[in-house]
Amino acid sequence: MTTGTTWQEANTNGAYQQALERIAQGVSAERHEIGLVLSPETAGDEFGLLEAAHNARLGNMGRQVHVRGIIEFSNYCRQDCLYCGLRRSNAKLRRYRMSPEQIVEAAAFALEFHGFGTIVLQSGEDPGYPADAIAYVVKAIRQLGPAVTLSVGQRPYEDYELWRKAGADRFLLKFETSDPNLFKELNPSTTLDERLQCLMNLRKLGYQIGTGIILGLPGQTRQMIICDLLLLKELDPEMVSVGPFIPHPGTPLGKAGATAKRDPARLIRATLRAVALSRLMVPLAHIPATTALGVIGKGSRDWVEWAGDYILKVLGDKGGSGWRASAGDWSDPRALALVCGANVIMPDVTPKVFRDSYEIYPGKAGSDGEELSGTIKSIRTMVQNLGMSIASGRGDSPKPQFTAKRCPAESRSGITGEGFGAGKEV
Ligand code: SF4
Repeated sequence: MTTGTTWQEANTNGAYQQALERIAQGVSAERHEIGLVLSPETAGDEFGLLEAAHNARLGNMGRQVHVRGIIEFSNYCRQDCLYCGLRRSNAKLRRYRMSPEQIVEAAAFALEFHGFGTIVLQSGEDPGYPADAIAYVVKAIRQLGPAVTLSVGQRPYEDYELWRKAGADRFLLKFETSDPNLFKELNPSTTLDERLQCLMNLRKLGYQIGTGIILGLPGQTRQMIICDLLLLKELDPEMVSVGPFIPHPGTPLGKAGATAKRDPARLIRATLRAVALSRLMVPLAHIPATTALGVIGKGSRDWVEWAGDYILKVLGDKGGSGWRASAGDWSDPRALALVCGANVIMPDVTPKVFRDSYEIYPGKAGSDGEELSGTIKSIRTMVQNLGMSIASGRGDSPKPQFTAKRCPAESRSGITGEGFGAGKEV
């Protein structure tokens, strides 16, 4: 990457622009083209990629930003992923499990502050949470109005089916990396095939599926990332998540040796390029500006000047006065992601008493009570300053099969929260 060069001065590369256009137009996405576009050699090329993704986002998804409240209801996990603070081997983590009633209360409380069109329910893979209890929560929250997205990991087909019948609309399950060996190394208690089979099961059951990758994992190569993007294209999910790897000190990958060479500014830019390519290759997907991106941005300011150049290029006079006034004072890379193809933001609405213990990686933040209203206010300001607006409604996939019909059997009876806590402990 050219340094010390403004985008105006930077040359663009003909081969790069050609490959970018072919991918943006959906004409082709060959490995060598993805590789080329993923690694621009000039600031002009890099900005060209990000702006193409922004235009694709505007063309396919509009100028609106979907704000989805996320409740992290249990941090028990039976898996042992090497990068995650929730892994079962992390004995130092204070474990919690919200009751079904507490989850529904938290959702109702969040909905008082903001008309969330979607509530996302996330947990570790917690066998202590019986499928019926989750079904009860799904049904109760659906009755409050919003769509419900589940993110609770790999579970049997029957569980997915039960939750779908209870009204769950969507399911997030990242495959993390498309390389089976790296996957096995980092996730020793499961396999990539098992993960992908779960996604197929969810697809079969009519969920809007979400999946994605982690950027910057130790052992991850550029070729693997190209394969990740190709797999995303092949799966054509309704939601795509691309987040940077943040080491947790209580995990094997948090050890100094595994992370010594990390450069947050480089990782932010690499993540934004992968977000942009995801937008171009899966144009109808909802793509979040991830919390992890916001967290990693706090650890480095080296990306700020570059960000200011890009934002002024892409927004010009179309942005709000706030960005023009503070173009050299970025504090949150999530705003950048929203002009590189992302169109969703997911504030954490988990009650504060539990929130800090959902520590997949350190430094995560969210809000409730007074703080939640402050969080919503700052998101509104961020969105307005980008010349965008906050979407109302559920924010379903724009694909015809998901706009034409709603989830089945919302009237299913006999689902109760009884039996909660009776499942197997981890
Ligand atoms: S990444 Fe998910 S499955 Fe793996 S340990 Fe963390 S919470 Fe569990």
